[in-house]
Amino acid sequence: MALCPDCHAQKPFFAPRCGTCNQIIGFKTQLWTMTLYYGVQVLVLAILAVWLFG
Ligand SMILES: [Zn+2]
Repeated sequence: MALCPDCHAQKPFFAPRCGTCNQIIGFKTQLWTMTLYYGVQVLVLAILAVWLFG
């Protein structure tokens, strides 16, 4: 599953059109959104780990 950059609903990663907001999401936009989404999560976890155990 992936995140729709437009309405932030879950959508299948390879589906070009979001089923919730009916917006066509480009592959690069989708990739960038997922990179940002998971990147922020990893960053927050890393900061939390350093803060707790560092
Ligand atoms: Zn959407």
